[in-house]
Amino acid sequence: MDWSDSAEQAAFRTKVQGVIDQMPDRYKAGEGDWERDRNNEDAGRREDARKWTESLAQEGWVAPHWPKEYGGAGLSPMEQFIFKMEMARADAPSVGGQGVSQLGPTLIVHGTEEQKAEHLPKILSGEVDWRQGYSEPGAGSDLASLQTRAIRDGDDYVINGQKIWTSLAHLADWLYVLARTDPDAPKHRGISFLLMDKHTPGISIRPLIDMSGRHHFNETFFEDVRVPASNRVGDENRGWYVGMTLLDFERSNITGAVSSRRTLDDLREYLKTSEGKQRAPGYAQNRLNVADRYIETDVMFNFSFRIISMQDRGLIPNYEASVSKLFNSEMNQKIALTGTRVFGLYGQIHDSADQRAPMKSKLTNQYLVSVSSTIAAGTSEIQRNIIATRGLGLPRG
Ligand SMILES: Cc1cc2nc3c(=O)[nH]c(=O)nc-3n(C[C@H](O)[C@H](O)[C@H](O)COP(=O)(O)OP(=O)(O)OC[C@H]3O[C@@H](n4cnc5c(N)ncnc54)[C@H](O)[C@@H]3O)c2cc1C
Repeated sequence: MDWSDSAEQAAFRTKVQGVIDQMPDRYKAGEGDWERDRNNEDAGRREDARKWTESLAQEGWVAPHWPKEYGGAGLSPMEQFIFKMEMARADAPSVGGQGVSQLGPTLIVHGTEEQKAEHLPKILSGEVDWRQGYSEPGAGSDLASLQTRAIRDGDDYVINGQKIWTSLAHLADWLYVLARTDPDAPKHRGISFLLMDKHTPGISIRPLIDMSGRHHFNETFFEDVRVPASNRVGDENRGWYVGMTLLDFERSNITGAVSSRRTLDDLREYLKTSEGKQRAPGYAQNRLNVADRYIETDVMFNFSFRIISMQDRGLIPNYEASVSKLFNSEMNQKIALTGTRVFGLYGQIHDSADQRAPMKSKLTNQYLVSVSSTIAAGTSEIQRNIIATRGLGLPRG
């Protein structure tokens, strides 16, 4: 299979690289994080986020997959793939968070004209950051059993309940939430999709610090929160189908393939340096493990290309997306494990500022952070179930 660019694709790739070249210096050094920068107390970081948003917005590349009429770039699947690949190669931060990847496409399909006019421009300008309130302490893989209750009262819903694992909710401005509006209906049919200003009275957010020391997750509590009924997206009790609208074309996981290859390249180069030779005990097994990880990144590239070639032909990847997600997340963990093992006891140094830490603890940190990658967006067990039933035709239950 020849995956090289056509003349048009090569020209588009060059154009993307040109815009990426204008990234703020801190972003070029791999330190960009739009969500943490945009309201940062450091004015320089705020300015970096603003400038980068502006550079992407000029091309419509804040939301490359949205239709042009809504302010996106209307790129073809192959152009989106090239765009994502170049962004990942340069470690360039995307802008707009889940507003761009999830809420915007959902509103474009299910929202009213008023909802689109109100929310889409603020997502594109970076003014409003959105986060997802789906999971609950008793509802993760079996999301449809969620218990957060929304009761209609005049022109409002009154919300009570709790969400968990609400990523970056502390940095967001608005939340999109699934809540139960009919407790007597079969579980998928009694749910509505609601938009909430995070500053509405009765919403409280409590941090959950993960084992790497990061504040990424939160618990989100709703106590008599009043949300206008006009903030419901889609029909009452049909929110499950709204919430499952997946228009994100990043199902190829090309970002994962590219950044894993970068990490391995960095590891390979470091192992050749005198410091690297000194930090790595040099067991023959290390070489074999690093070679295995290289093979796996090659496999991952091919999974990514398979998905994009399907999307380019108008097909919707199904179990193929599960294969790609499963393989990518497990590969990510294996690379981190290999990286920490290669360095023996040095691999346990977590503090990136420690002079003895190999590669500024990059792989040790990845080891801790990547544990959650096989849980997020559908656990590996759920992905295997999909592959077994939809891909292999094995019976359920
Ligand atoms: C990095 C990360 C970010 C996240 N961000 C968000 C967010 O922003 N908003 C949000 O709402 N949620 C978020 N989540 C939550 C995520 O959606 C859930 O963690 C996930 O759906 C799994 O649910 P659970 O944690 O309740 O585990 P459970 O569903 O309780 O699963 C526990 C174990 O049982 C297994 N299991 C469950 N059902 C089956 C089955 N049918 N067959 C075989 N095994 C099964 C699972 O694989 C798992 O090993 C995030 C999670 C992570 C890790």
